[in-house]
Amino acid sequence: MKIIVGIDLGTTNSEISCLRTEGRPEVIPVEGETIMPSCVGIDHEGRLMVGRTAKNQMVANPEQTILSIKRRMGEKITLPLGDKAFSPEEISSFILGKLKSAAETYLGQKVEKAVITVPAYFDDAQRQATREAGILAGLDVVRIINEPTAAALAYEAGREEKQRILIYDLGGGTFDASLVEMENGIVEVRSSHGDTHLGGDDFDRLLSDHVALPFKKKYGIDLKSDLKAANRLWVAVEKAKRTLSDRPFATIREEFIVGDRHLDVEISREEYEEMIRPLLRKTMIAVHSCLKDAMFLPKAIDKIILVGGSTRTPLVARMLEDDMGIEPHHEINPDLIVAMGAAIQGAAMSGAKTKAILVDITPYTFGTRAIGEYQGRMTSDVYVPVIKRNSALPVGKEELFYTNYDNQQDILVEIFQGDEPLASENIFIGNFWIKGLSKAKAGNLILLNLELDVNGILKVTAKEKATGLARTVTMDTANKGTGTNLEEKRSNIESFLREDDDVEADGDDEGGGERDDGDVVLDKQGLINRAKSLRKRAEGMIPGVNEEDAAELTDLLEKNRRAIAGHDWGTVGRLNESLSDMLFYLED
Ligand code: ADP
Ligand code: MG
Repeated sequence: MKIIVGIDLGTTNSEISCLRTEGRPEVIPVEGETIMPSCVGIDHEGRLMVGRTAKNQMVANPEQTILSIKRRMGEKITLPLGDKAFSPEEISSFILGKLKSAAETYLGQKVEKAVITVPAYFDDAQRQATREAGILAGLDVVRIINEPTAAALAYEAGREEKQRILIYDLGGGTFDASLVEMENGIVEVRSSHGDTHLGGDDFDRLLSDHVALPFKKKYGIDLKSDLKAANRLWVAVEKAKRTLSDRPFATIREEFIVGDRHLDVEISREEYEEMIRPLLRKTMIAVHSCLKDAMFLPKAIDKIILVGGSTRTPLVARMLEDDMGIEPHHEINPDLIVAMGAAIQGAAMSGAKTKAILVDITPYTFGTRAIGEYQGRMTSDVYVPVIKRNSALPVGKEELFYTNYDNQQDILVEIFQGDEPLASENIFIGNFWIKGLSKAKAGNLILLNLELDVNGILKVTAKEKATGLARTVTMDTANKGTGTNLEEKRSNIESFLREDDDVEADGDDEGGGERDDGDVVLDKQGLINRAKSLRKRAEGMIPGVNEEDAAELTDLLEKNRRAIAGHDWGTVGRLNESLSDMLFYLED
């Protein structure tokens, strides 16, 4: 069977994917990266460069570099490059050609057919130019599909019931909101709204200004008027922006940016969010126009899907959730989802059975306990989520906390799993002390970093921002259920709290792994783990037993699930025993 690849030919970045195994499109790396900048350039010897290399040389050679050619698709123009001139479809064909040859290397076979995506608002001329770009690259473009359609396919392919999906796509230079209706595998874009000049580039610009203005005041030098300095600045702020998606602070440091002047600025996520908030408001207005066009109320939406690199900015999901009342989905990598959806379409056209994409996600939220407001009063039991459930794994997030009183030198870091607003209502995972903080006023900044890997290993680091004093502890959050007895389970859990090395720490070694309400907590975790492993065994068994036994097992499982949700540990224990007895009898 000939493979039909899927290509997201983006304004800022392009991606290529294909589907060989059911349900799992592969993203094909180009020079070791899954994302290739849609950038074309000529080096000093007149040779063509495409992708990362072209983007890298942009700083040194901005005049010989072309970015965002997608904006010009369908126009009858040519752009100079080296000593020649090229049409937009020719420039785009260089991008497609590079993707095609990366795929051929990766797959070890010729790639001749492709599905290419375009924005929903692209008109005929723009679609035709895209098709021509494909032909120029040696590709048979078997279908052009809309980007929101591709995104919806990635989540919903193979589903029969009717779904109304809002696709929020914030890329590098453009924003699109689309309402997609899907039924029996047929996808229809009901309405689409957006702004062809709003995206991550604007955020970069705001950040650049934020950095360049004080520099100008201080040294009298305008970084933006010097082409090379301006490009270095842009690369640096873009990187800082990405850092701010996962962390509360980012540093922009560029040595000798102009003459012997250095740039060294720290920016907080809060400052950054205030800068971009007005632009994100504009996107919300477009979302509402989109709903209005399709004559839908927000509550008619079944799902919101985040697409485009800029939707990794946490404020995006927050604003959407506040506004629409449902939590947007971002489990499938927002930079890659369109290419993956195109690959699903390609596979369907080549006759393969297709399914929505499976991804490794964490089904649980992980967070910590802090002092804060709950139902109008202050409490020391507020739960602050750090890693949200449904995040794709591996995931790392950092949040900022403050000391509570003057000269506070110790902090107990406590980690919980769950979504309840009070920490004590969630499942305790582990805790540790960080001691020897400097004697500072209340409000001393503490960074809490959580890194969760695909095996459920959680690495927790607490760090005093001012001094770098830090402590890291590794906790195992995974369900290690094997059906062994409770004693074994207990000792297994005892070892959950394994101490790592003290990164950058210069003090305290004692006192780690303390737990105030240890016994209760151990029981809870043990019961849950046992329930999970019993469930696994039971589910494996249900298809092979008679109807009556199957019904009884299902009933016990359901009751147990409810008991866990209701934190009714006594019942969980009893149900575990009943399940275990029944499995014992059935397995015999
Ligand atoms: P396009 O569809 O326009 O080609 P992408 O979907 O690839 O664009 O998005 C590119 C934009 O996403 C860039 O502005 C880039 O800076 C931004 N971006 C990428 N990763 C992150 C991140 N982690 N946080 C915030 N913005 C990001
Ligand atoms: Mg895009």
